[in-house]
Amino acid sequence: MPRKFQRLNNSINSNRRSSRNKNTDQPNKGSVTLPYAKGVTETIQRLFKSHHITTHIKPQNSHKLDKSGAVYGLQCADCDSTYVGESARPLRNRLKEHERPSSPVGEHAMRAKHRIDWDNIRVLDRESDWYRMGVREAIHIKRRDCNLNRDQGRHILPLSYDNIISSCDPRNTSGHVTTTE
Ligand SMILES: [Zn+2]
Repeated sequence: MPRKFQRLNNSINSNRRSSRNKNTDQPNKGSVTLPYAKGVTETIQRLFKSHHITTHIKPQNSHKLDKSGAVYGLQCADCDSTYVGESARPLRNRLKEHERPSSPVGEHAMRAKHRIDWDNIRVLDRESDWYRMGVREAIHIKRRDCNLNRDQGRHILPLSYDNIISSCDPRNTSGHVTTTE
């Protein structure tokens, strides 16, 4: 048994000894609820099982960067440059690609010797449908006038969208740009 789980095992043994029914000397069967952590929870679950303790796994709300299906915004920390992208994969994986010089974000950081504000990545929209994600990305690119985007996105918005998007621009109205996270 790995050393890091040995202490837990000892602790369970200790509690079992103190809580045993003195008449039957049978271990009390109980249950515990554990948060899920990949590679750790399974081991702890087996450990509890060997002590006849049932485990319930509580799904955790994963970090926003671990979720899939997002339209996100990146900001340069040293100038006003912005980028909007979409990711059907976990956002964390997609963002790593922006560190490459072949990415417009990575290229900007390298050429201008600027720092991308990785600590303030904004999730602008959540969308699991691939088509709708493309539409949302295109709207955000147009809405935010993202200078680091090399094109207007995967989805080409009809020109009729221009007036609608412009009328929603917080610089033109009292409205505001919403973010989901
Ligand atoms: Zn910059």
